[in-house]
Amino acid sequence: KRVISTKIQEEDIKIEKTLRPQTLDDYVGQEKIKNNLKVYIEAAKQRREALDHVLFYGPPGLGKTTLANIIANEMGTNIKVTSGPAIAKPGEMAAILNNLSEGDVLFVDEIHRLNKQVEEVLYPAMEDFTIDVVIGKGESARSIRLNLPHFTLVGATTRAGMLSAPLRDRFGVVSHMEYYNVDELKSIIIASASKLDVGIDDEGAFELARRSRGTPRLANRLLKRVRDFAEVKYDGIITYDVATFALDLLEVDKYGLDKNDRNILMTIIEKFGGGPVGIETLAASLGEDSGTIEDVYEPYLVKNGFIIRTPKGRVATELAYNHFRIKRPEDLE
Ligand code: ADP
Repeated sequence: KRVISTKIQEEDIKIEKTLRPQTLDDYVGQEKIKNNLKVYIEAAKQRREALDHVLFYGPPGLGKTTLANIIANEMGTNIKVTSGPAIAKPGEMAAILNNLSEGDVLFVDEIHRLNKQVEEVLYPAMEDFTIDVVIGKGESARSIRLNLPHFTLVGATTRAGMLSAPLRDRFGVVSHMEYYNVDELKSIIIASASKLDVGIDDEGAFELARRSRGTPRLANRLLKRVRDFAEVKYDGIITYDVATFALDLLEVDKYGLDKNDRNILMTIIEKFGGGPVGIETLAASLGEDSGTIEDVYEPYLVKNGFIIRTPKGRVATELAYNHFRIKRPEDLE
């Protein structure tokens, strides 16, 4: 199991519940999204209407589920949580919708993984707050239209491009989540440390923040791991030394790269002369699935300038070479 995987893991579940901010004001970063939501929420409340449907897209662990909960909280309504893969049949979706109350939030994680028939139930539900249900069988079967309470669908997906156009078009608010900067992660870590009742100094928080790959989920997980070190090996306070020692042991380097990331970069550099190398070729050489490389590893490496994507394939940048203290072929000439 990758310690820096941004997908949710068993060890995160309990801690995430405790650490989740409850209000927009406690939610750090994503300023544009937050400011927009504030306006929309205020307006919907004044009109006593449900908030428009909202789609969040962006990498895992950036706070999409947290925002869905905050929306319900700020609107003073309930939230029902489900996910694309969890709903197999149109009838199941119809039942969930039919059980909502006025103004409720329905959060559908991994919404791009809904199957077509289930997705089609959502179209009239989102647009007109109705569903068509078929009653009876065979010859006598007929379809009746049911009215639904006015609800807010909050969808989350890792890539907006994976959503079908008819579904995407039915969201009034589409928000792209960004990776967090080091300062934002630092405030999240300091807030989390206080909730977990563990001491941390400024340098300790900074060191954790910069190795957290722009991702709050990872920041919280690393905090928890480092806290264990601090308690067992030191006097319980997370300082720069404790953070560095623990994160080095976990093999997370100062850019938040782990063995797998370094392996990808070194493969491009050593086996493919720095690139360009096609994603399939690279995946085959690493024994990895190309989708995993594209979704899990690559976004962070691209975002931080270790790799660039060109039409001919992936290229390792000067930064990647410098990271390993290897001279680029063109610099040797
Ligand atoms: P996603 O749904 O995008 O995968 P989550 O909403 O589950 O991510 O967030 C993962 C964890 O990170 C949550 O437990 C939450 O405590 C923390 N978190 C995420 N975003 C923020 C934020 N903006 N401020 C504070 N904590 C956050």
